[in-house]
Amino acid sequence: MTLLHNMPTADLQKLDAAHHVHPFTANADLAAKGTRVITSAKGVFLRDSDGIELLDGMAGLWCTNIGYGRDELADAAHAQMLQLPYYNTFFHTSHPPVIALSAKLAQLAPGDLNHVFYASGGSEANDTNIRLVRHYWAIKGKPDKKVIISRHNAYHGSTMGGASLGGFSAMHAQGGLPIPDIAFIDQPFWYGEGGDMSPEDFGLERARQLEAKIAELGEDKVAAFIAEPVQGAGGVIIPPSTYWPEIQQICDAHDILLIADEVICGFGRTGNWFGSETYGIRPDIMTIAKGLSSGYAPIGGSLLSDEVADVIANGGDFNHGYTYSGHPVACAVAMENLRIMEDEHMVEQVRDVTGPYLAQKWAQLADHGLVGEAVSVGMMASLAMTPDKAARAAFAADKGTVGLRCRDRSFANGLVMRHVGDRMIIAPPIVISKGEIDQLIERASTALDETLAGLKQDGLMTAAG
Ligand SMILES: *Cc1c(COP(=O)(O)O)cnc(C)c1O
Repeated sequence: MTLLHNMPTADLQKLDAAHHVHPFTANADLAAKGTRVITSAKGVFLRDSDGIELLDGMAGLWCTNIGYGRDELADAAHAQMLQLPYYNTFFHTSHPPVIALSAKLAQLAPGDLNHVFYASGGSEANDTNIRLVRHYWAIKGKPDKKVIISRHNAYHGSTMGGASLGGFSAMHAQGGLPIPDIAFIDQPFWYGEGGDMSPEDFGLERARQLEAKIAELGEDKVAAFIAEPVQGAGGVIIPPSTYWPEIQQICDAHDILLIADEVICGFGRTGNWFGSETYGIRPDIMTIAKGLSSGYAPIGGSLLSDEVADVIANGGDFNHGYTYSGHPVACAVAMENLRIMEDEHMVEQVRDVTGPYLAQKWAQLADHGLVGEAVSVGMMASLAMTPDKAARAAFAADKGTVGLRCRDRSFANGLVMRHVGDRMIIAPPIVISKGEIDQLIERASTALDETLAGLKQDGLMTAAG
């Protein structure tokens, strides 16, 4: 058939290289090497076109929370496509799936986040947030409150707005970013940047940079602060316990909105429905995507508090929207995904059983000769590789050299583990069982062993001067 499911790998690679431009990829290098073609998946396991099985330690891109192969979601999409495959929500129109999902999200979300503006993913939702918070303050007679404060090494998506809010310098370097009126403070990354401070003191110091930045810019110029409860793409950076309470207090004390980007942390990843619950955050706006549909359909959105929604609702037309805002098929899939997560108590399972189990097993990796720290929360974890544990030193080799080697050894041992610089990260489907966690840890350990052996052989276990 036309979807090439039975084409030999080499031919698929050739066609891919000829016509498909991959995201975040040096495409010429990939074309020379040949892409890996994933053909099917079930539970937490992927299968490629050569029949090789891989444990998906990254839940796709942090999104397949309920795991692969849940036929109920396919059935929900099929039924909705037959009933009403598409209609828009622009012209005083709506449809049952978007109404159902909005009410469901209002019920699941903490506090009074009772209103949803839809997008097709997290980047679009964050673009909405930029326009929405500026519009909010303009309606309130404060059009100069425009600046959004974010953090270095944050990830908020890849659109012009999302990448501007993000703190990745490699992204800002391409395409003329950031857009105006985005400001940055440092990240609460104790292992990498905490020096001799205790994690608690360091967390406070980094949070107080927000207060200093507000003072520097002037409270009358700042619209909002945006942050991920736990930085995901930045390297699964879990903030010190002192960080979020201080941030919350600073946001409360100053007249600015707090946006929690829950695109990764939402829908069970941290052992609660939302990372904001895990860290005691009371956001005015929440960005959601990824786990909302477990990646089975593209959907994201912004959850708004009663107050924010009320101001926007009474401010005339909000001149903003996407063709696929509240897409009926995506909404139907998301509803079915949330139903399964609730019925099968998946979030409680992470909180009470598999999360603590992963925490205990993952922490033991810190005993490995290559590992400086190994930390986790819920079903996301990271470890830092180092040539000198005591000094938390970086490698003399270019940043990412060791990480890439470990990533390759991990794939070779049947585990999808990602590297961020020389940090290794995992975020498997939240349905992963204890036995599968054992398999994940075993494969990760083997990858670390083989990476260390290779580094020694090549004389790369040296610290940066
Ligand atoms: C993935 C991600 C985004 C972007 O979502 P897309 O669906 O890729 O547009 C935004 N914020 C965070 C925290 C993310 O991890």
